[in-house]
Amino acid sequence: MDPDTFHDTETYDIALLAAGGGATAALWSWDKKEPAVALLRPPGHHAGWDYNGGFCYFNNIALAAKLLQRDRRAGRVAIVDIDVHHGNGTHDIFLKDPSVLYISTHQWGIYPGTGPLTEVGHGEGEGFTVNLPMSSGHGDGTFRMTFEDVVVPILKQFRPEQILVSLGVDAHYMDPLASLSLSSPGYVELLMQLKELADRVCEGRITFMLEGGYHLEALTEVFAGLCLSLVGRGEEATYRYGSVMDSGDSAHLKGFREQLSSYWRV
Ligand SMILES: [Zn+2]
Repeated sequence: MDPDTFHDTETYDIALLAAGGGATAALWSWDKKEPAVALLRPPGHHAGWDYNGGFCYFNNIALAAKLLQRDRRAGRVAIVDIDVHHGNGTHDIFLKDPSVLYISTHQWGIYPGTGPLTEVGHGEGEGFTVNLPMSSGHGDGTFRMTFEDVVVPILKQFRPEQILVSLGVDAHYMDPLASLSLSSPGYVELLMQLKELADRVCEGRITFMLEGGYHLEALTEVFAGLCLSLVGRGEEATYRYGSVMDSGDSAHLKGFREQLSSYWRV
């Protein structure tokens, strides 16, 4: 356990509530064939089989994926992690597992220091781990290109039966802990791309789970914009932290494609 992940007498029970909340949302989404949003704390994506860290105790999203497979007989589950930090726990849990595709966009060079582009999974799981590290400063444009040319095509080829999203809002340009530059409407646009993809490939089964995000106003307006958009009222969303100029970085994209083209048509 690292110093950020301390615990007191209530920590265990609170962490169980977060894990149970994520699982409940994912199973509800499966049964109803509708999107679900789970506002969880503590987050989970830094917790592995036998370790925790980075404010995470139980891996909420990994537990949900396992439960979908055990209790709903889901064959293929995709986890898309857009928290600014690499979800090392989720990554490690599914590294050898071809039935759970893990795709992570994250800032390179910050905590926890894992998730290089070259790490693609082991054994039968080779190709089913997709790490997309970005250098500081990249925002809406680079993310848009990465989603359109890499993330969405890979998801279409994998054909998940449900999509789970590790939704950290710490890749936002207002976030004090990191330095990627997504805007609030930029976030919502990416998330709605995933929702529309879920409508096409997995009967609308998609679950968004809160991970990190340390600027509360930015966090709030991204979740408000997402929820309004999910119920068809996206035009009512107002954003204080709107788009900033970012034309996108094709060099990143070229590297992603070169690494991943052995496994996917990208
Ligand atoms: Zn984070």
